[in-house]
Amino acid sequence: MRVTILGSGTCVPSLRRSSCSVLVETGEAKLLFDMGVGTMRRLLEAGVTIGEISHLFFSHLHPDHTGELAGFLFASKYPEGRRRNSRLRVTAAEGFMAFYERLKKVYGQWIELEEGIVDIFEMSNVRQDSMHLDFSNIDTLPMTHTETSIGYRLTMPDTTTIVYTGDTDYCKNAVQLAIGADLLICECALPDEMKVPGHLTPSLAGRIASEAQVKNLVLTHFYPECDGVDIEAQCRTVYDGVLLCAEDLMRIEIANGHLGLLG
Ligand SMILES: [Zn+2]
Ligand SMILES: [Zn+2]
Repeated sequence: MRVTILGSGTCVPSLRRSSCSVLVETGEAKLLFDMGVGTMRRLLEAGVTIGEISHLFFSHLHPDHTGELAGFLFASKYPEGRRRNSRLRVTAAEGFMAFYERLKKVYGQWIELEEGIVDIFEMSNVRQDSMHLDFSNIDTLPMTHTETSIGYRLTMPDTTTIVYTGDTDYCKNAVQLAIGADLLICECALPDEMKVPGHLTPSLAGRIASEAQVKNLVLTHFYPECDGVDIEAQCRTVYDGVLLCAEDLMRIEIANGHLGLLG
């Protein structure tokens, strides 16, 4: 299974870090977790077209995680010669459907794909939830960020597990979601000394990884304030497993619990 960090940044415009998005490729399936502004361009840089994306997963509705959805749908419809005709499965927390309907009120038919193309699944925003897909079981838990924030845990048939927190503060749910994961992709918004409510710091992300005993940890969702700080050292005060700080277009292969950096 291959994971590509498309955007390791936040809402802050940055040439180095695009807004949040992670691509997971497993077999024929190509999954996008969140799609902040710049995602489609980063996808192309990763060698993937939007028509190849089979599943969208949203952790929550903040624009740095959903900002490119309208553009993605518009580009899936026009020009007609490029119109998407394969299904797009969209998963998010309860509340997403209302958000999507409001988005369609703004853009109308420009972003409305043909009947049967877009399937939307809402997961509980207050308790554990799960769904089964051909290539993976998916479990979700509410995270501590907004009222409709969830984290995802993918369990593949070979038992490989990947966890994506989306935005969150430290919470027991984040630990529970990540228990024993082969790979935890965890938000890490600001350095320890700049902690804000609703977000993690390197040592809090490390605490989650440590308590959950994950095998590999990738920190992402860095505000520019992180770039001049030794994020790894702050995380290392509490976590001694494999650790990577994400950069845009970082590619990771995960197999049998081992992480390989592809570039
Ligand atoms: Zn965010
Ligand atoms: Zn957020």
